[in-house]
Amino acid sequence: MKYFRPITINDYFTISKDVGQQDFTLFAGGTDLIPRYERGHKLPETIIDLKKLPNIAGIKKVGDNIEIGAGTTIEELKNKDLIKTHFNALFQSTTDFGSVQIRNRATIGGNICNASPAGDTLPALYAFNAKLILRNKNGDRTVPIDEFILGPGKTAIKNGEILQAVIIPLSNSKSIFYKLGLREAMAISVVNFAIIYEQTLLTIGLGAVAPTIIKLTGLEKYNIDQILEEVDNAISPIDDIRATAHYRRKALQNMLRFELSKIIKT
Ligand SMILES: Cc1cc2nc3c(=O)[nH]c(=O)nc-3n(C[C@H](O)[C@H](O)[C@H](O)COP(=O)(O)OP(=O)(O)OC[C@H]3O[C@@H](n4cnc5c(N)ncnc54)[C@H](O)[C@@H]3O)c2cc1C
Repeated sequence: MKYFRPITINDYFTISKDVGQQDFTLFAGGTDLIPRYERGHKLPETIIDLKKLPNIAGIKKVGDNIEIGAGTTIEELKNKDLIKTHFNALFQSTTDFGSVQIRNRATIGGNICNASPAGDTLPALYAFNAKLILRNKNGDRTVPIDEFILGPGKTAIKNGEILQAVIIPLSNSKSIFYKLGLREAMAISVVNFAIIYEQTLLTIGLGAVAPTIIKLTGLEKYNIDQILEEVDNAISPIDDIRATAHYRRKALQNMLRFELSKIIKT
């Protein structure tokens, strides 16, 4: 196996061009990749480590948006006031994420590109209309997150591209994130969701209940029972080692009712 750690973006493009169609993997924190290899998945011929690329990490305000570098760690997101102030649901999704050791390695870019239906940052990113900047040797393209993630482990990334940053329009809406796991820490979500709301807006992002995150918008016109019905119709959970589909449906309904009843006064 070959290992590269480019220190400029041009180095990265040269290396990715040289390895061409070979079996290569981009490597950020490695917290999804290493356990996968430990479980016996075949190692790729080449690994390209993105950690030393300049400008791949960091959180900044750019005009009416916030730009989060793909290499920003979950711990950095958790500790950034700008995130807590404008995107509470995204902030909350980082607080029960893995452990401090995992959060210090795991990146937001890895959470997105891993495309797990249970990825904890994803419901908030969908609900806040995040867009992704993908970089290739000919320039950048910007893709809404719901067009980028195509299914479990599948994204629209092209050969030679990297996810450079996540762009989220600055928001003053209130929001919450809820995660149900099988234990208090180091747990993959059985169900998770983000609710974004203000007087004339209610959007929900739902995780671990379909092959990709489900985003429901325009829910402000409904009462709680109607919202729960919309949710139940939209999801298609499966049985797996963590929970049955039936349990996921029930748990989601109960947790959503609980959270919505704090927001929607009847
Ligand atoms: C013990 C443990 C606990 C965990 N707990 C949680 C949890 O609570 N919630 C949760 O959501 N996840 C959890 N995870 C999963 C994992 O930590 C996250 O998905 C994490 O965000 C992955 O980021 P990474 O930087 O480590 O990705 P990596 O493992 O480096 O990469 C993951 C995938 O993304 C691709 N990739 C990474 N960066 C880029 C980029 N910039 N451009 C293109 N492709 C890229 C890689 O090629 C790979 O396919 C846990 C994992 C472990 C081992």
